[in-house]
Amino acid sequence: MIYKEVIERIYDSMLNQTGEGKVASYIPALSSIDPKSYAISVCDLEGGEFSIGDSDVRFTIQSISKVFVLAMVSRYLGDKLWERVGREPSGTAFNSLIQLEQERGIPRNPFINSGALVVTDMLIDLYPNPKQAILDFVREICGNRDICYNEEVAKSELEHSHRNLALANFMKSFGNIKNDIDTIIDIYCNQCSISMSTKELAKSFLFLANTGVNPINGQKVVGPRSSKRMNALMLTCGLYNESGDFAYRVGLPGKSGVGGGIAAIIPGRLAIAVWSPELNNNGNSYRGIATLEQFTTDIGISVF
Ligand code: GLN
Repeated sequence: MIYKEVIERIYDSMLNQTGEGKVASYIPALSSIDPKSYAISVCDLEGGEFSIGDSDVRFTIQSISKVFVLAMVSRYLGDKLWERVGREPSGTAFNSLIQLEQERGIPRNPFINSGALVVTDMLIDLYPNPKQAILDFVREICGNRDICYNEEVAKSELEHSHRNLALANFMKSFGNIKNDIDTIIDIYCNQCSISMSTKELAKSFLFLANTGVNPINGQKVVGPRSSKRMNALMLTCGLYNESGDFAYRVGLPGKSGVGGGIAAIIPGRLAIAVWSPELNNNGNSYRGIATLEQFTTDIGISVF
């Protein structure tokens, strides 16, 4: 794998770069994660793979699941999806309520919590057993049948989901939530609790580097237009109110989660996943961002 040396060098130089942020604790079950965990995995479209660090340790992917659920819904809904959710960066925190009142219950984009709750609401109408369908989808795209929900984390989030409940209730008052709110929150907390390693996460993002086709088995996950759009949304909205800075520093479509993971792609080349659980004030892994910034700088390739 041609990126091996670059990644080894970055890993060694950042291994002790901890202590500048905090592991998420608003979901109590996440607070026990080892803050020093660190992993990088890269897979390319030619079948090359390289991983370093805690790359076999599974962590909850949290908001990264928003990409998968969007892909599942966009398979069926096409442009109808955008009647209920926007595609502009929010410039606000991932769980913010602030724009919803002015914008009459239409979330800015599918990668903040309000937007993802609307997408999960749509998923319920499209798949008879949504929780199983989400697992089947993720298992298929990463080629690993034993991907599971982390029930402890899902339960912990469910018990502390007052803000997500508020978002869903508020949107329901505008008519933008159709299904039972407790059902939506239950599915949402479960999708966030999907546990994957960076090795699995990098594989699962390869279809987005390959115009929607999974290079591992040749199957079409989404069409080329959807793939292009999902990458554009990741670039503009994938790191919440830090998306502009991420584009500036890293120059790739990417998606983060409060579990400390970030997955990103270089179109036509590769997918990369990083895990480092200490978060900055925006809820993003600061070492994860620094790692990706160094990676695109060192290899001299980004989307720009
Ligand atoms: N489960 C988390 C939440 O809803 C996901 C947020 C995130 O990863 N940014 O708060």
